[in-house]
Amino acid sequence: MPIYEYVCPACDLKFEMLRPMSRANEKAACPECKEESERVLSTFACCSTDSSGMTSAIAGSGNS
Ligand SMILES: [Zn+2]
Repeated sequence: MPIYEYVCPACDLKFEMLRPMSRANEKAACPECKEESERVLSTFACCSTDSSGMTSAIAGSGNS
Protein backbone atom coordinates (compact mmCIF):
# COMPACT_ATOMS: atom_id res chain seq x y z
CA MET A 1 0.00 0.00 0.00
CA PRO A 2 1.34 3.41 -0.87
CA ILE A 3 1.76 6.18 1.65
CA TYR A 4 0.00 9.45 1.07
CA GLU A 5 0.64 12.79 2.64
CA TYR A 6 -2.04 15.06 3.99
CA VAL A 7 -2.10 18.54 5.41
CA CYS A 8 -4.70 19.54 7.91
CA PRO A 9 -6.39 22.84 7.03
CA ALA A 10 -7.21 23.53 10.64
CA CYS A 11 -3.94 22.96 12.47
CA ASP A 12 -1.51 22.74 9.56
CA LEU A 13 -0.35 19.35 10.65
CA LYS A 14 1.30 17.30 7.98
CA PHE A 15 0.77 13.61 8.34
CA GLU A 16 1.12 10.48 6.31
CA MET A 17 -1.37 7.73 5.87
CA LEU A 18 -1.11 4.29 4.45
CA ARG A 19 -4.10 3.49 2.32
CA PRO A 20 -5.07 1.67 -0.81
CA MET A 21 -4.68 3.55 -4.06
CA SER A 22 -8.41 3.42 -4.64
CA ARG A 23 -8.88 5.68 -1.65
CA ALA A 24 -6.02 8.03 -2.35
CA ASN A 25 -8.26 10.93 -3.25
CA GLU A 26 -10.40 10.65 -0.20
CA LYS A 27 -9.86 13.01 2.63
CA ALA A 28 -8.20 11.77 5.77
CA ALA A 29 -9.00 12.73 9.31
CA CYS A 30 -6.29 14.72 11.01
CA PRO A 31 -4.81 12.77 13.93
CA GLU A 32 -4.74 15.93 16.03
CA CYS A 33 -8.10 17.58 15.52
CA LYS A 34 -9.97 15.10 13.32
CA GLU A 35 -10.45 17.71 10.65
CA GLU A 36 -10.78 16.34 7.14
CA SER A 37 -7.51 16.94 5.38
CA GLU A 38 -6.74 17.14 1.71
CA ARG A 39 -4.07 15.01 0.19
CA VAL A 40 -0.94 16.79 -0.87
CA LEU A 41 1.64 15.59 -3.27
CA SER A 42 4.83 15.13 -1.37
CA THR A 43 8.30 15.87 -2.62
CA PHE A 44 7.46 14.52 -6.03
CA ALA A 45 5.54 17.68 -6.83
CA CYS A 46 8.62 19.65 -7.69
CA CYS A 47 7.48 21.11 -10.96
CA SER A 48 4.14 22.76 -10.38
CA THR A 49 3.92 25.67 -12.77
CA ASP A 50 3.29 28.71 -10.65
CA SER A 51 5.35 30.92 -12.90
CA SER A 52 3.14 32.68 -15.39
CA GLY A 53 5.96 33.45 -17.80
CA MET A 54 5.54 30.55 -20.18
CA THR A 55 1.78 30.27 -20.23
CA SER A 56 1.04 33.97 -20.56
CA ALA A 57 3.05 34.10 -23.76
CA ILE A 58 0.66 31.60 -25.35
CA ALA A 59 -2.47 33.21 -23.97
CA GLY A 60 -1.40 36.69 -25.05
CA SER A 61 -0.98 35.91 -28.72
CA GLY A 62 -4.37 36.98 -29.97
CA ASN A 63 -3.52 39.26 -32.87
CA SER A 64 -2.32 38.26 -36.29
ZN1 LIG B 1 -5.67 19.12 12.45
